[in-house]
Amino acid sequence: MSAEPTPPAGAPKPPAPCPICGKPSVAAHRPFCGPRCRQVDLHHWLTGRYAVPVVEEDGGSDEA
Ligand SMILES: [Zn+2]
Repeated sequence: MSAEPTPPAGAPKPPAPCPICGKPSVAAHRPFCGPRCRQVDLHHWLTGRYAVPVVEEDGGSDEA
Protein backbone atom coordinates (compact mmCIF):
# COMPACT_ATOMS: atom_id res chain seq x y z
CA MET A 1 0.00 0.00 0.00
CA SER A 2 1.19 3.47 -0.77
CA ALA A 3 0.76 6.06 1.87
CA GLU A 4 -0.86 9.11 0.40
CA PRO A 5 -0.11 12.38 2.09
CA THR A 6 -3.34 13.90 3.23
CA PRO A 7 -3.65 17.50 2.14
CA PRO A 8 -4.66 19.96 4.82
CA ALA A 9 -8.41 20.15 4.81
CA GLY A 10 -9.89 23.50 4.13
CA ALA A 11 -6.83 25.07 2.57
CA PRO A 12 -8.03 28.35 1.09
CA LYS A 13 -6.61 29.28 -2.27
CA PRO A 14 -5.10 32.72 -2.54
CA PRO A 15 -7.63 34.99 -4.25
CA ALA A 16 -6.68 36.08 -7.73
CA PRO A 17 -6.06 39.80 -8.03
CA CYS A 18 -8.66 41.98 -9.69
CA PRO A 19 -7.89 42.14 -13.44
CA ILE A 20 -8.95 45.77 -13.45
CA CYS A 21 -7.11 47.37 -10.59
CA GLY A 22 -5.03 44.52 -9.19
CA LYS A 23 -6.58 44.51 -5.74
CA PRO A 24 -7.43 41.20 -4.05
CA SER A 25 -10.69 39.92 -5.50
CA VAL A 26 -13.80 39.58 -3.39
CA ALA A 27 -15.71 36.31 -3.42
CA ALA A 28 -18.98 38.10 -4.03
CA HIS A 29 -17.60 39.85 -7.09
CA ARG A 30 -15.04 37.40 -8.41
CA PRO A 31 -12.84 37.76 -10.23
CA PHE A 32 -13.15 41.44 -9.46
CA CYS A 33 -12.63 43.32 -6.23
CA GLY A 34 -16.01 44.96 -6.31
CA PRO A 35 -19.04 45.98 -8.38
CA ARG A 36 -17.19 48.98 -9.71
CA CYS A 37 -14.45 47.03 -11.46
CA ARG A 38 -17.09 44.55 -12.53
CA GLN A 39 -18.92 47.30 -14.37
CA VAL A 40 -15.70 48.58 -15.87
CA ASP A 41 -14.87 45.19 -17.29
CA LEU A 42 -18.42 44.72 -18.53
CA HIS A 43 -18.33 48.09 -20.24
CA HIS A 44 -15.13 47.11 -21.99
CA TRP A 45 -16.75 44.04 -23.44
CA LEU A 46 -19.93 45.84 -24.42
CA THR A 47 -18.02 48.49 -26.30
CA GLY A 48 -16.06 45.77 -28.06
CA ARG A 49 -12.84 47.62 -27.51
CA TYR A 50 -11.21 45.92 -24.60
CA ALA A 51 -7.77 47.33 -25.19
CA VAL A 52 -8.61 50.75 -26.57
CA PRO A 53 -10.22 53.15 -24.15
CA VAL A 54 -12.67 55.14 -26.18
CA VAL A 55 -14.30 57.95 -24.32
CA GLU A 56 -16.62 60.11 -26.29
CA GLU A 57 -17.47 63.06 -24.21
CA ASP A 58 -18.58 66.22 -25.90
CA GLY A 59 -18.32 69.42 -23.97
CA GLY A 60 -21.69 70.63 -25.09
CA SER A 61 -24.78 68.77 -24.03
CA ASP A 62 -28.13 69.34 -25.63
CA GLU A 63 -30.93 68.93 -23.18
CA ALA A 64 -34.34 69.85 -24.37
ZN1 LIG B 1 -10.73 46.11 -8.87
